[in-house]
Amino acid sequence: MRIQQRQAGHSLVIIFACAAVIGGQQPKIGYDDTPLQPDGRWRIHDGTRPQPTVVTPAPAPLNPVPPPADATVLIGARDDLGAWQMMDGSPAAWTMANGVVATGKGMIRTRAEFADFQLHVEFATPSEVKGDGQERGNSGVYLLGKFEVQVLDSYRNPTYPDGQAAALYGQFPPLVNASRPPGQWQTYDIAFTAPRFKADGTLNQPAIVTVAHNGIVVQNASRFWGPTAHKKIEPYTPDTARGPIALQDHGNPVRYRNVWIRTLSSRDAQTSPASTSTFALWKAGDLDTHDRELSKHVGEDHSSRETLADYKSHRFRMLYRDADGNPEQHDTIIDIVYVKSGEGTLVLGGTMAGRRTTGPGESVGTRLDGGERHALGAGDIVHIPAGIPHAFLVPQGKHITYVLLKIPAS
Ligand code: MG
Repeated sequence: MRIQQRQAGHSLVIIFACAAVIGGQQPKIGYDDTPLQPDGRWRIHDGTRPQPTVVTPAPAPLNPVPPPADATVLIGARDDLGAWQMMDGSPAAWTMANGVVATGKGMIRTRAEFADFQLHVEFATPSEVKGDGQERGNSGVYLLGKFEVQVLDSYRNPTYPDGQAAALYGQFPPLVNASRPPGQWQTYDIAFTAPRFKADGTLNQPAIVTVAHNGIVVQNASRFWGPTAHKKIEPYTPDTARGPIALQDHGNPVRYRNVWIRTLSSRDAQTSPASTSTFALWKAGDLDTHDRELSKHVGEDHSSRETLADYKSHRFRMLYRDADGNPEQHDTIIDIVYVKSGEGTLVLGGTMAGRRTTGPGESVGTRLDGGERHALGAGDIVHIPAGIPHAFLVPQGKHITYVLLKIPAS
């Protein structure tokens, strides 16, 4: 049944009731035979869940708002889909003209992968309305390729609330319906924290998302029950900790423009201490994946790093660097270094120039004069005693990735 609200200010519930009387039957939306969500309150795609209140947002800006200086532009003003590919890795087959991308056959995903980020997306559903419910302007923004923020024409278009625009599909409706009319440009501003897993692969913290739809907060630190699926919720698995941004093809024409992302640094503090009684195994293949990911997020200091596990008394870190590192010295910590890939030179001992203290018994410098030099390559293991200055040098155009175990000297 096609339902159109022509008088402003009426809630969808009232319109629904009218439509039901006119039509002589209750319009069927959603499902009543799907599993309950984990908190047991509503079924997945529950048609009886309250429809979010309509809140009219500010008028759409005429032009895209320029991205901030440190953003990575995924869809920009130039007709270039180079940041994207099909899910199978083939070139992105969607079309782009005048800075606007039109959905095509099959989902597209970014080549780069992310974990924690701020994402800005602009989309528009067709001004000529065709279809109803889920068949009207359906697309989606898939965070890490797994967690969907629904894209739908939800302007006077009732559907199950956890499937309307800005819903976490199948899980959480938006707090309010902030949709603009069909054809108008709309925005999603998304702050996303990737799920965290313990060393044994079990979930430590779910994916958390805050979404502003047309400037109105509609998801406030909502916690995904798990990866998105239709009529079910998938379980968390450690491979959902990173992933691309993907845009859904749901067979409906939807346009996208001005999509940019800012990676949010993952604070080591977010890695909760693991128990020393927890068994941990990092398979070589897993470390390869970490290595590749680190190589995509190299900072201005020519390095990137992550904490694999923090046991308080000792911790495993993984570091990637593609230029010489600054020398450091720590008087109570021993470094065990396992070189995963690449090559470099370890300088051990000597005199640290530009030395400054960074903590009790810890200092860094700008250069090491003298000392021993040891060439390092993949598979090598090094024990660096406490209290000896050391630095990693990396030839131009090369990199070194190593797993570092920091343990107390006593
Ligand atoms: Mg969708």
